Amino acid sequence: MSVRVRFAPSPTGTLHVGSARTALFNWFFAKHHRGTFILRIEDTDQKRSNPAFLEDISAGLAFLGITPDEGPFFQSQRLALYQEHVQRLLQAGKAIHQEGAVVFPVPHRQVTFTDLLHGDITVQTTLFPTLVLMKSDGLPTYNFACVVDDALMGISHVIRGDDHIANTPKQLVLYEALGFSLPVFAHIPLIVGADRSRLSKRQGATSVTEYRQAGYLAEAFVNYLALLGWAPGGNRELMPPQELIELFDLSTVRKTAAQFDLRKLDWLNGQYLKRTPVPRLAELLAARLTAKGWLSADYDRTWMEQVAALVQDRLKVLEDIEDQHGFLFQEPPPYQDEAVAQFLRRDGIAARLLELKERLSRLAVFDAATTEVATRALIAERHLDSKELIHPVRVALTGRAVSPPLFGVMAVLGKARVVQRLAYAATILAKT
Ligand code: GLU
Repeated sequence: MSVRVRFAPSPTGTLHVGSARTALFNWFFAKHHRGTFILRIEDTDQKRSNPAFLEDISAGLAFLGITPDEGPFFQSQRLALYQEHVQRLLQAGKAIHQEGAVVFPVPHRQVTFTDLLHGDITVQTTLFPTLVLMKSDGLPTYNFACVVDDALMGISHVIRGDDHIANTPKQLVLYEALGFSLPVFAHIPLIVGADRSRLSKRQGATSVTEYRQAGYLAEAFVNYLALLGWAPGGNRELMPPQELIELFDLSTVRKTAAQFDLRKLDWLNGQYLKRTPVPRLAELLAARLTAKGWLSADYDRTWMEQVAALVQDRLKVLEDIEDQHGFLFQEPPPYQDEAVAQFLRRDGIAARLLELKERLSRLAVFDAATTEVATRALIAERHLDSKELIHPVRVALTGRAVSPPLFGVMAVLGKARVVQRLAYAATILAKT
């Protein structure tokens, strides 16, 4: 049997990380089995559907590297099909008109289905005595449209979130009434936040777009979502998409809810960033910085590569370049009050900054090694403890108490800006 799966989002919200993971599990499963991944847009709720959400979902799937083999199909363009199958049920006497809607009175019985993850699930149909098939506005309900589409699209495996597990028995009786054969069902557990409640806004970003914009790398994000509720065994953590596809096994997905752990995602993303070639990282960073207006479009590529090499091991997400390293691109650098109070406002600091400025301005070669030698020479001559000079200089150059290695920072800033910033810091100190 060839594998055919579908991802069936409703464009009633942005792409949630839980849906993204459902999409990925379908994608891995399809690609692992050289099957077909179908994208179906369930847009029959006209009041809540919105083209902006559809765009967000498409952009999110593209970011995740998912390219449907078939579709997108839109349920709103398939209304004739649902009509046709409703007519069949009406003619067979299985469905009836009721207050403008078409409903399906469910025969009393017990239904059982085998879920790939949860095993046999048995439900009494008395829980749902009637199912609405078509609403009075002429649009199909989710359960009805879903069954018609899954059957007509030849879906072999329905892989969806646990939140739909109560719908499956309802869909089962419709499959039977319509004479369709059943797909395999696999309900994957929800993603929960740190407090184990369903992942929601309160626990941070829930939409893929927010992670994309913060500068999580697609590969790292996909890798992280894959590990939420599934693991290939053997403690493997870093797995690029192709490996995930090779190793993915639906039957080993865990049954219990998966906890979203931002620190783990950050760690994983940092690992991917460390492995990104410097020229590529420079491009990714430059794209953000030019968009922000901190870098001109004709920026110096060699210099940006120096920047990338300087910050590479310190970045967890790309936005850290703006949040923690904005001093590389702003003149004067943004000074943090606390850092200034703690390290700059000390007796005699202004004079030392000016002394260092003089020495550095005489250097013919301005790299990490030469600036370090010159700075340490001054420290030795003045019988200072090195941190008595290093800390204030760091704040003068970066505005912060924590930064990449100081002499690396000097080399990247270059002589003119280092000299300018030391003078500037000395001036603010003199003024207050
Ligand atoms: N449109 C439904 C949802 O977004 C699809 C559920 C399913 O996969 O059957 O939850």
